[in-house]
Amino acid sequence: EAKTGGRNRFALHSEHMAQEANQRLVMETALRHAMERNEFYLAYQIRVSATDGTPTGTEALLRWRSPELGDITPAEFIPVAEHSGQIIEIGRWVLQQACRQHSIWRAQGLQPGLMAVNISVVQFRQAGFVEQVAAILAETGMKAHDLELELTESMLMANPENAVMMMHALRALGVGLAIDDFGTGYSSLSYLKRFPASRIKIDQSFVRDIDINQEDAAIAAAIVALARSLNIEVTAEGIETDEQLAHLNRLDCADYQGYYFAQPLTAEDIRFALDATLVVQPG
Ligand code: C2E
Ligand code: MG
Ligand code: MG
Ligand code: MG
Repeated sequence: EAKTGGRNRFALHSEHMAQEANQRLVMETALRHAMERNEFYLAYQIRVSATDGTPTGTEALLRWRSPELGDITPAEFIPVAEHSGQIIEIGRWVLQQACRQHSIWRAQGLQPGLMAVNISVVQFRQAGFVEQVAAILAETGMKAHDLELELTESMLMANPENAVMMMHALRALGVGLAIDDFGTGYSSLSYLKRFPASRIKIDQSFVRDIDINQEDAAIAAAIVALARSLNIEVTAEGIETDEQLAHLNRLDCADYQGYYFAQPLTAEDIRFALDATLVVQPG
């Protein structure tokens, strides 16, 4: 009995693994054509000033619309693209596209503020990444101080010594560096002092229950106090409700980002969001 059960469980388990491997292969194959078939586009989510609600910048968020697989979220396809190495080419396209778009908005007389771009650990480790960023800035005419690269805490902590070096090289170009999803990794606080970050983004997992969970509220307050003492700006992300906002307003964040203010929008739609008068005031 037990043996049969065990065997069935094993069969079930390996079947599940085979399904997963197959799904990954299907996605990897579809990803291979995605670039040349123009299946990627960027969505942009605005960030607003915590003091007056005016837009301070936008974050570029990668979207993939596959004719075969439908809309696939970055959480699903980015790990696959990282595994296969395709993220190198995709990531370069994202950076080019975001910088081009920023220059277009500028030319249209809009004030898009900072353009934040998420960077994969695979890109960050790639030889020549700093030169690639410099080349894209030069070819798109974007000013280095208008660009902010979002790096995650866990990717920095995977090899902190190298991360410190890379971050200094990128800061030397003039670009800003944000540590994304802050609080979810395992940063030692002494490293935070050594990482030349210009911004920390408080992860949305702390914002979600900030108005009802004392621990989350305490962690968020500690992150803001620490960042301020190190002269690092703080963005709170994932704000959806009045209650979360009211609580965050007691802290000293520089910016807010979340569905409460704006969804990620297409390049066309965001032109209206960049008009400050249409943005919800943080109160
Ligand atoms: P992230 O960089 O932390 O981006 C924030 C995510 O939270 C985005 O999900 C955004 O749509 C979502 N979000 C924004 N406001 C709210 C809110 O109020 N509530 C909730 N529940 N969610 C909110 P998205 O676009 O699905 O991206 C997920 C993650 O995928 C990103 O997290 C980032 O790590 C990664 N990603 C997205 N675009 C790129 C890219 O171009 N390159 C790389 N390497 N990673 C990317
Ligand atoms: Mg981000
Ligand atoms: Mg984040
Ligand atoms: Mg995230």
